[in-house]
Order: sequence, then C-alpha cells, then structure tokens
Amino acid sequence: MNERISIGVTSQRTRDRLVEQLQELGIKDQRVLGLMRRIPRHLFVAEALASRAYENNSLPIGHGQTISQPYMVARMTELLIEDGLPENVLEVGTGSGYQSSVLASLIPRVFSVERIRPLQEQAKKILGDLGFRNINFKHSDGGWGWKAYGPYGGILAAAAPDEIPVNLLEQLTIGAKLVIPVGKEGQQVLQRVTRTKTTYEVETIEPVSFVPFLKGRL
Ligand code: SAH
Repeated sequence: MNERISIGVTSQRTRDRLVEQLQELGIKDQRVLGLMRRIPRHLFVAEALASRAYENNSLPIGHGQTISQPYMVARMTELLIEDGLPENVLEVGTGSGYQSSVLASLIPRVFSVERIRPLQEQAKKILGDLGFRNINFKHSDGGWGWKAYGPYGGILAAAAPDEIPVNLLEQLTIGAKLVIPVGKEGQQVLQRVTRTKTTYEVETIEPVSFVPFLKGRL
C-alpha cells in the first residue's frame, strides 16, 4: 500500500477524532472506546471507501448491506456488557465482521450468523487475518438463533425484524441481554431485552435505522 495513503487512513489522529465524537454522543464505556480507537475499521470496507472508514457513518459493503455506524456498534456493545461481560455471545448479521471484532475482543466466545454467504466468507477471512480465533461462523437465517452452542450470555442483532424472533429470546440465559433494532423501515427503535427468571424486561433505547432482518439464506 502507498505509504502516504496508509498513514492518512490509519493515522491515530483520525481515529482519536472518531472516539471524541463517540464520547460527545454519550458513549462512556472505556473498554468500548479503547476498541473503537484500536480496531482497523478501514480493513472491513472496500479500498475505495477506506478513507471514510473513521467517519461516524454506515458504509455500503455490497449485497445491499452496510457496515454499521461506529456509534451504533459502540452503543449496542455498551448496552450488552453494562452489567458484566458474558462468557459467550450470539451475533446475528455478521456483515463486514466489524461488530464481531469488537465483541470478540471483549468476550471469550463469539458465535456469528450471517444469511449472505459471500459476506460471511469475506468477514471470516479478514477476522482470521487479524488473528481472531474465538469467533465461530454459521451461514444461516439468524431467526433460528444457533441452538447448538446456546444458551448465550448475550445476543446482539444488526438487522431489524418487525417482531423479536422467539428463538432468540429462548436462547438467552437468565440475566442475559438481547440488544436488537425492532420495527419497519422509518419507525425502528433499538431495544434491550433482559431475561429474568419469570419474564422478559424490555427497554426501548432510541430510534435507529438498520437494514431489515430477512428470512432464509443466500
Ligand atoms: N454488524 C455488521 C452489520 C451488517 S448489516 C457490520 O457492522 O458489518 C446487517 C447484516 O445482517 C447483513 O449482512 C444482513 O445480510 C444480515 N442479516 C439480515 N437478516 C439476517 C438473518 N435473518 N440472519 C442472519 N443475518 C441476517
């Protein structure tokens, strides 16, 4: 890679600026902020978009999908680990693999499901190259969850269903949290569901805009 481009894209100043923005937007967890500073987000997007990787925006990753906005990745992670770090986490919607890298830097075992095969393959390669060995991938409709390795100490979904899939609720341990955008385009909200011994407690966090949670696999 051209030296000057590589310095521009990966410069610490650019990443520090993103972290400042995230703090201004209310992200407080130092573990999460540290990862947002360290993880090379530019490696998860096409080279032509690398120069925009440290802007606080979602970006296209092909197949009609996007890499989530850094603020959203930070916020969802913060919400998931607020009461302690789970032992294992299920992620629905691997996409570029960026959110997976944040989770796998904090949590011992990450299980990530993606319905679009080429995206999953690409994410697997990048995460392997970056040295992550604690992520398991599955090409599947995440509406089923991933029962074989559950229940999970946390579940995070990066695509919005109209209603929360019951399989995901059932694959939470007691005390675990599911962080998920819910609702139709234009009226989505981020929700956090905590499973208790007797029920599921739902908190509505804020309005969001995610790609739809779709059935089947490609
Ligand atoms: N966290 C990812 C987000 C990618 S966008 C990133 O930052 O790159 C959301 C992803 O969810 C897309 O890749 C989409 O294909 C996937 N997705 C949507 N519905 C799904 C489903 N039912 N099962 C698995 N993956 C799904």
